[in-house]
Amino acid sequence: MLAATKEVTFRFSAKFYADDMETRDLDLVSLPTMGTSQTSNGHRGARFVVRADSDFYSVLGVSKNASKSEIKSAYRKLARSYHPDVNKEPDAEQKFKEISNAYEVLSDDEKRSLYDKYGEAGLKGAGMGMGDFSNPFDLFESLFEGMGGMGGMGGRASRNRAVDGQDEYYNLVLTFKEAVFGVEKEIEITRLESCGTCDGSGAKAGTKPSKCSTCGGQGQVVSSARTPLGVFQQVMTCSLCSGSGETFSPCNTCSGDGRVRRTKRISLKVPAGVDYGSRLRVRSEGNAGRRGGSPGDLFVIIEVMPDPVLKRDDTNILYTCKVSYIDAILGTTIKVPTVDGMVDLKIPAGAQPNTTLVMAKKGVPVLNKSNMRGDQLVRVQVEIPKRLSSEERKLIEELADLSKGKAATSRR
Ligand SMILES: [Zn+2]
Ligand SMILES: [Zn+2]
Repeated sequence: MLAATKEVTFRFSAKFYADDMETRDLDLVSLPTMGTSQTSNGHRGARFVVRADSDFYSVLGVSKNASKSEIKSAYRKLARSYHPDVNKEPDAEQKFKEISNAYEVLSDDEKRSLYDKYGEAGLKGAGMGMGDFSNPFDLFESLFEGMGGMGGMGGRASRNRAVDGQDEYYNLVLTFKEAVFGVEKEIEITRLESCGTCDGSGAKAGTKPSKCSTCGGQGQVVSSARTPLGVFQQVMTCSLCSGSGETFSPCNTCSGDGRVRRTKRISLKVPAGVDYGSRLRVRSEGNAGRRGGSPGDLFVIIEVMPDPVLKRDDTNILYTCKVSYIDAILGTTIKVPTVDGMVDLKIPAGAQPNTTLVMAKKGVPVLNKSNMRGDQLVRVQVEIPKRLSSEERKLIEELADLSKGKAATSRR
């Protein structure tokens, strides 16, 4: 599948009133646009990055209807030969990651079927952005660990390796108007931060790490099991030191993890024009990494409360007004609720039922271009009375006679 996908990247700056008061970039990551109206509207304020999807099937060298076991064995074969521990080619690590990503998607029935239908865009819909793949080394180890097949290579690879922090998610509920015009919000997030007591090392102050007594500093242990098929040797990550080869007295504050859960209040400026499902990315405000790994990002996911009368259609706002048949015939001016308050709308004489009147620039500001706005579209519903007073009835009958007479005259 080599379909090109459009990745829409919105950029804008926002003041970030964290402890440090520095200005940070907020990225807005749009949700997948699976055939909805978003695709046709995104270009108004967006910069397109068009790139070809990498084809996961060809990365693994399997056919599109490969079985799970074919996919697994293809992955194992390739991952072994491209693992950066054995393959010193400069692009081996990149290739190793690609193999890992491809396997992660194709080995999971749900992700595979999304990928088959929508390509990588489909995976984003499943909450998997491009940065959301598992750590390729962890994936590798989960498949090779304990099989003895790699002679413990996985274990060595994991020694003292930095582990990046995970992304954190926050659901932010906005009112209809807050989403339209943007808003500054203070939110409180809880996430893992580097432990100040041990400076993230996890070790108790004043103590030094020592060689692990269980594995002798190797980070892995070999165990033999006698089975009817012969003696099997298993190489496992040392459970005492988790493969680091070192043990230390744990810091009292973080119990050795090097991170502690803390609550932080941050102010963020939500830009005008966000919609239900928009994601704001605050870089590096997710969970802290371990052993020098970089922190994850914070994703603020927008939910919007519906308005009782105004409906949103991307940058347009939809509203339905009711006018009497007499007003529709003679024309009138009515008051219409808009996000800017009540506004007069002229209904022209002879307005037809279900006509749509356009109130220009009364819609939603275009994201990232708040000087551009959509329109409010007002559908005119004409009300025909179900009951008439006798006087009304008389007048309408006269009107009927009149138009019959007209018809008769014009036929002559
Ligand atoms: Zn600590
Ligand atoms: Zn150990």
